[in-house]
Parts: sequence; structure tokens; C-alpha cells
Amino acid sequence: MKIVIKLGTSTLAHQTGRLNIRRVEELCKVISDLKNAGNEIIMVSSGAIGMGVGKLSLGEKPADIPTKQAAAAIGQCELMYTYDKLFSEYNHTVAQILLTDEDIADSERCNNFKNTLCRLLELGAIPIINENDTIATDEIVIGDNDTLGAIVSTTIGADLLIILSDIDGLFTADPHTDKNAVMIHTVKDITPEIEAMTGGAGTSLGTGGMVTKIKAARIATKGGTDTVIANGKDPKILYGIVKGEDKGTKFLAVRN
Ligand code: GLU
Repeated sequence: MKIVIKLGTSTLAHQTGRLNIRRVEELCKVISDLKNAGNEIIMVSSGAIGMGVGKLSLGEKPADIPTKQAAAAIGQCELMYTYDKLFSEYNHTVAQILLTDEDIADSERCNNFKNTLCRLLELGAIPIINENDTIATDEIVIGDNDTLGAIVSTTIGADLLIILSDIDGLFTADPHTDKNAVMIHTVKDITPEIEAMTGGAGTSLGTGGMVTKIKAARIATKGGTDTVIANGKDPKILYGIVKGEDKGTKFLAVRN
């Protein structure tokens, strides 16, 4: 299976922005194992800004763009250093790809991206993609990595997009405030009713929330990719999701 795994900042880092070592070690182990089992894995990883914030001890996500971009430049190194080190333990090679909206919109650049990605997969590497935050200004920003994950999935025809964050899945209402809220396991069609369940709010260091995840699910499923939104707190959940077990919320691909 060709699988895109999107990891949110809340899954990778503590509230301080510093790396959640136990979690990330476990993630790299499980992802290596899934790759050893014959799956092609592409990762879309957030966490650059969060880790920059942690490394610079800024305390919170900066409000101004230049500091955000500086934090991303610093955090992206930390992120790739960590992935390189941890995946090397399982004999896997990582590759960094940084993209902006312009790269996707321009057919030649997008084609170059696709060719590189395919070649990396043929070579057995694990491509790790993030938005190129240091040059992404308002006009060329994708904005959130949930959408980036969906764009990547449709560009390469992935079978499955897994979006891991700190939410268990899509609930009928906000589970923090409504005790009658129940999780929806399967969504065949993203109706206005489903969209109304999304609420708002991302985490303090990340960007998305349920809104961007549903938007991503819409793009990916339209492009033929099943999409699962699940909680990344226990990385072993990936085994169940790949097996097709009932984990998180699964949005079924539109198949024509
Ligand atoms: N590109 C941002 C980062 O690496 C994250 C965007 C997002 O959380 O969706 O920090």
C-alpha cells in the first residue's frame, strides 16, 4: 500500500515545543516496521515551528511572521536530524522535501516534485515533506499540513492518508464540552451536516484543527485516497489503521 502519514505538532512535541522523545521514537519504529512489511511510506511532518520555539526557549508560538519563519528554519533542522537518527536505527533513509503552494500550482514544478518523490520511493527512502515555511508568505502559503498531506496524497495516488493528531476522530459534538458526543467511525460522504461537526481550534503550537482535517479529507477522498483521522498518542494505532481496523474516523475514497 502507498500510505501518506501526516504528523501534527501535538503528536511530535510537548507543550514546550521540545521533542516528545518517547512518542517520536515509537513512531519511527512503527513506521519502519510498516515499511519493512512492504508498504511505501511518505510522511508529511509538522513540528518545525514548534521545535524552533522549544529550541529558542521562546515560551510560545511567535505572532510575527519573521520570527515564525526563523523558528521554522531552526526547528526543521532539529526535526530532520531526529528523523534521520531514529530511522537510521532501523536501516531506513530519509529525504527532506519542502514545498509551497506555488510549487504545486506550477505544473512543471509539480511534475518535478512528483518525479523526485517517485524516485525516492523506488530507491527505498522515506520522503518527509513539510511546507517551506521560511519562504511561504501569504500569497504562496498552503497554510496547514493537513491540506498539504491531502495534496501530496492525490498527486501520487496514495491508497491511504493517515492524519495523526491529538484528537481521536470526528465527534458528533465537542467531546470536551458535550458528554453525549460520540465518535463517528465511517464517513461515506462529507455532507454539510458532517462539516457542521468540526468546531474550531488547533493546538497552541500547531496550525490545524478539525476544520482543516475535514478539508483535507475532502480533497484526498475526491482524489481516490481513503483518509483516517486518529489520535497519534499511541503510535501503534498505525498498525490497526493499515490493517483496516476501526480506529479513528475513516473517510471513504470517492471511487468512480
Ligand atoms: N509547517 C508548520 C511547521 O512545521 C506546521 C503547519 C501545520 O501545523 O499544519 O511547524
